[in-house]
Amino acid sequence: MFEGEVLGKIISRPTPLARKDVALMSSLDEQNHIPDVLPLIPLRDLILFPNLVVPLFVGRERSINALEEAMRNEHLVALVTQKAAETQDPGPGDIYEIGCVVTVLQELKLPDGTAKALVEGKQRIRIVEFLQTDPYLKVRVELVDEEEHADLEAEALMRNLITDFEQASQLGKPIPQEVLGAAAAIDEPGRLADFVTFHLSLKVDEKQEILEAVDPKVRLRKTTEYLRKELEILELGSRIQNRVKESMSKTQREYFLREQLKAIQQELGVYDETQAEIEEYREKIRLSGMPEDVEEKALKELSRLEKMPQAAAETGVIRTYLDWLSGLPWQIEDEEKLNLIEAQTILDEDHYGLEKVKERVLEYLAVHKLTDHMRGPILCFVGPPGVGKTSIGRSIARALNRKFIRMSLGGVRDEAEIRGHRRTYVGALPGRIIQSVNQAGTKNPVFMMDEIDKVGMDFRGDPTSALLEVLDPEQNNAFQDHYLEAPFDLSDVMFITTANLLDPIPPALRDRMEVIHFPGYTEDEKLHIARKYLVPKQLKEHGLSTGKLDIQDSALHEIIRRYTREAGVRNLERTIATICRQVARKVVEGKKGKTSVTVRTIRKYLGPPKFSFGLAEKRDEVGVSTGLVWTEVGGDVIFIEATTMKGKGALTLTGQLGDVMRESAQAAVSYTRANAAALGIDPEFNEKLDVHIHVPAAAIPKDGPSAGITMATAMVSVLTGRRVRRDIAMTGEITLRGRILPIGGLKEKLLAAHRAGIKTVLIPAENEHDVDLVPEHVRTEMQIVPVSTMDQVLSRALI
Ligand code: ADP
Repeated sequence: MFEGEVLGKIISRPTPLARKDVALMSSLDEQNHIPDVLPLIPLRDLILFPNLVVPLFVGRERSINALEEAMRNEHLVALVTQKAAETQDPGPGDIYEIGCVVTVLQELKLPDGTAKALVEGKQRIRIVEFLQTDPYLKVRVELVDEEEHADLEAEALMRNLITDFEQASQLGKPIPQEVLGAAAAIDEPGRLADFVTFHLSLKVDEKQEILEAVDPKVRLRKTTEYLRKELEILELGSRIQNRVKESMSKTQREYFLREQLKAIQQELGVYDETQAEIEEYREKIRLSGMPEDVEEKALKELSRLEKMPQAAAETGVIRTYLDWLSGLPWQIEDEEKLNLIEAQTILDEDHYGLEKVKERVLEYLAVHKLTDHMRGPILCFVGPPGVGKTSIGRSIARALNRKFIRMSLGGVRDEAEIRGHRRTYVGALPGRIIQSVNQAGTKNPVFMMDEIDKVGMDFRGDPTSALLEVLDPEQNNAFQDHYLEAPFDLSDVMFITTANLLDPIPPALRDRMEVIHFPGYTEDEKLHIARKYLVPKQLKEHGLSTGKLDIQDSALHEIIRRYTREAGVRNLERTIATICRQVARKVVEGKKGKTSVTVRTIRKYLGPPKFSFGLAEKRDEVGVSTGLVWTEVGGDVIFIEATTMKGKGALTLTGQLGDVMRESAQAAVSYTRANAAALGIDPEFNEKLDVHIHVPAAAIPKDGPSAGITMATAMVSVLTGRRVRRDIAMTGEITLRGRILPIGGLKEKLLAAHRAGIKTVLIPAENEHDVDLVPEHVRTEMQIVPVSTMDQVLSRALI
């Protein structure tokens, strides 16, 4: 680096081109003209030597005045260095004695008041006396006599100096080639010493020392000495560098390379986006709390990303991966607070009835509290839609102070939906489990998996096995997602599953779960729920208040009976919402006062009733019997039709019947044939007639053996021509000998019968004890008759 950056007001930059011709320009003639009084410019940290041309920046006021003074005369000015660069206005004591007189070759005034000058060193001078300090420094000087005689010793010193100078350049000192050339061409010893010194990285006082050495040989020796010192430093530097390179460990090397890469990227102007992003990822990974091995993996991916060209398509894939890894709640959890009394209050607050369910849930929570972990079986809520399964799940989360998330398993057929796709797939993502946990943002949410009875299975693999792993407390502390390729701990998650029916759940899954049945609601219960929960909730959601809308009990009753037919309250809630919407619109349109919806005005909002309530108006008919079924939407009343036509004993079954139901129809036919005589039927009917049994509604799939006695009744009715009483509903499985076997879902079926206004229900005698589950008023309003043989059924049902 060239010396001579002068800070402050006087700045001078020596030109690297101290051209030989310029350097050799001075002549004795000119020296003779140098006057002994000169203006003085103090230099901050530059030493100027004779025969060199350098540009000079002049900023201090006194210096500018001195320069102007010089320009008015012979363009001569004395340049002497000040002892301390930081002195702003140096006085006589602050300036060295020996300096250089220069000719100002050119002067350029700059707009900011400073000036730039090109000066050429003439000769050494000594300050004899300071004549004035203002407006500029003026000094009396005497010329320092320099004798230039080149004897042999001087010659040898000069050659040495030039060789060393060249060597310094080879060792890495940045000396331009033309400077080396110029040095070699100088044949005066003193001038060579000056020239080389000017280009060395010496301190100001060292250079001043050389300036002050008048004897050329002394000067050459001193310069050689400094140059040697510099050479030694250069050599040492290169030796250290070599050694450092060897001993640099891998990480240091990586760091070094990364820094270099950073520098290159900065140069290219791409640093900001990419490097900052990498650092951001590094920080995110560090803060995410992921386990060590996962962190290692993430950092590995990060370094891949770092090395990749930004345009590479794969960077997006890696980024998404890193986003997932670093965004997961590895350590974040809600602090659980569990107070059973409070939990009970919350469950009661949010739900009407459901006593048994609440009890079971509280027991479960109590065990959880005692054992302090989630090792128990998984809860499984089974029941028709709209009976409050989700809603209870939410309340559990609230009672535990945890997040609540839901995920539907309906239609999931592929293991990858649960576990994710491997990253080699285009557009791969984690499976739904990890996505849901990510969405929850904590590692201990209450996680509800809906419709576990609807999990499918096909050639893409069986999701059940993945679910087994998720739900198994022994295994789910290291759940493997194909996309993450790292185990995630699900053991703090509280899983709850829901299903409409228990039977379709794969047995392996069912074994791990503690089933809680949600029966349907009775009319009364629905009315309570509507009044206490659904109406206030819908009013709030529609921005209404009780002052604006009042749905009277009679209207709610009507909705329950004639506008909905369901085990739960989902449609009821929807219908209430329909009314609220219409009223909200009227309010916005300017209607004042309160709208009251009564049984009389309800048609205005909902149109004609959708269902008929009660069967009173229906006539008793031949070949139509009233049965009770249990589908996934709860219990229901159906009318089974049987008819005969000429034929050869073929049996036709329609109405989307499952295998079990078909077999039970076969059993009914066989029973009828076997007992034809006793029943008063032509024993040969089977040779002359075909039988068709139809179970409406045809669109809903039905299965199970419980319609056995109903189908047999319809068939006997059509074959004997006796009518069946419409108001008697029945349920029960039939054996070939006409015995009646117990069935499931009795409670739901009785509720459905009650909803439909049935007066008498025939149930299998073995189910008698289930009747206690049915609310009292349902029991008293209907006659429930246990039967154990087909004879009992027929004698009651046929007229
Ligand atoms: P599911 O999950 O069983 O299909 P939801 O929990 O979604 O049913 O219930 C549907 C609606 O009915 C929700 O708004 C819920 O709050 C309400 N609901 C159901 N049962 C009750 C109940 N016992 N008390 C109060 N609201 C209920």
